[in-house]
Amino acid sequence: MPATLMDGKALAERLRGEVTREIAALGHVGLATVLVGDDPASDVYIRLKQRAATEAGIDARDIRLDASTSEDEVLALVHDLNDDAEIDGILVQLPLPSQIDETRVTYAVAPHKDVDGFHPVNAGNLYLGTPLHVPATPAGCMALLAEYGVDPKGKNAVVIGRSEIVGRPAAMLLLQAHATVTICHSRTADLAAEVRRADIVVAAVGVPGIVTADMVKPGAAILDVGLTRTEEGIRGDVDPAVADVAGLLTPMPGGTGPMTIALLLESAVKAARYRRGLLAYPTL
Ligand code: NAP
Repeated sequence: MPATLMDGKALAERLRGEVTREIAALGHVGLATVLVGDDPASDVYIRLKQRAATEAGIDARDIRLDASTSEDEVLALVHDLNDDAEIDGILVQLPLPSQIDETRVTYAVAPHKDVDGFHPVNAGNLYLGTPLHVPATPAGCMALLAEYGVDPKGKNAVVIGRSEIVGRPAAMLLLQAHATVTICHSRTADLAAEVRRADIVVAAVGVPGIVTADMVKPGAAILDVGLTRTEEGIRGDVDPAVADVAGLLTPMPGGTGPMTIALLLESAVKAARYRRGLLAYPTL
C-alpha cells in the first residue's frame, strides 16, 4: 500500500488561520526581515515570508540592503531593531554576502526577538531541553509527525544532515520527544544501514533522491526537507519510489516547505508574547 502523504500545505493553512486569530487578539505584532544583496533564492524566500506575515496580520517590515553593505552597517541596523518598540521579531535572511560575518550578525539579534532560533542562547536552550525560539523547519517536521499520530517516544529516528538550521535542531527536538536519535552526515560510513533501522527519517541534505526505497524500513515516517531546483523542477532528498515502502511521507513540494512558513509565523507570535511578558523569556 502506498504511503500516506503528510499534507504540509493543509496543516500549514490551518496553523496560519490559528496564528491570524492570535495576532488579532494581541493587537499588533511587528516582524522585520532583513535581506542583504540580491540572491534570487533568498529573494523568493523573503517574498514568501513577507506575504504570509502580512496575510496573517503581522506588521511586516521588509528591509533590503545593497549587496555591498558593510558588516558594521548590518550590525547597526540589527541593534536598532533590537531597540525598536514596534518590532517583536527579527529575521536576517542567510546567506549574507562574504564581507559580513554571519555569526556576528546572528549573535547580535536579541535572543527574545530571534524568530529563526539561530542565536546561541536559543540553540543552547534547545540543547538543554528547554526550547524557547526553535528553528522553523524542524519545528514544522515535529508538527507534521504530531498531526499524523506519530509519537517519537521509543522510536529510532535518523536525521540526515547536521546543519544548525535543520539537522541539529531536528535531532534535538526528536530527542526531547524521547526518540533514539542518530545523526548522519557526509562522513557517515553506511548511510543505508543507518536509515534502514529508522522508524522516522528527516532528510535534510540537498542531494536529490539520496534516500532510496531500498534504504527505507517498511512503514517508516519520512520527512523530506532537502530541496533542490533542477531542470525537471523541484526535487527532494527522497526518491519518489520511497512512497511504495514508507508508511507516511511528505510530498515535495507541499510538505515541509509550507510548514516552515507557518512555524515562522508562530515564532513571531511567540516573540510578541515574550516582549509583552505574556510568556517568560529567561534572561542570563
Ligand atoms: P547544509 O547546511 O548544506 O547541510 C547539509 C547537510 O547534509 C550537512 O550536514 C552535510 O554533511 C550533509 N550531507 C551532505 N552530503 C551528504 C551525503 N552524501 N550523505 C549524508 N549527508 C550528507 O544544508 P541545510 O541548510 O541543512 O539544508 C538542507 C537542505 O534542506 C537543502 O536542500 C535546503 O535547501 C533544504 N531546506 C529546506 C527547507 C524547507 O522548508 N523544506 C528549509 C531549510 C532548508 P556535513 O555536515 O558532513 O557536510
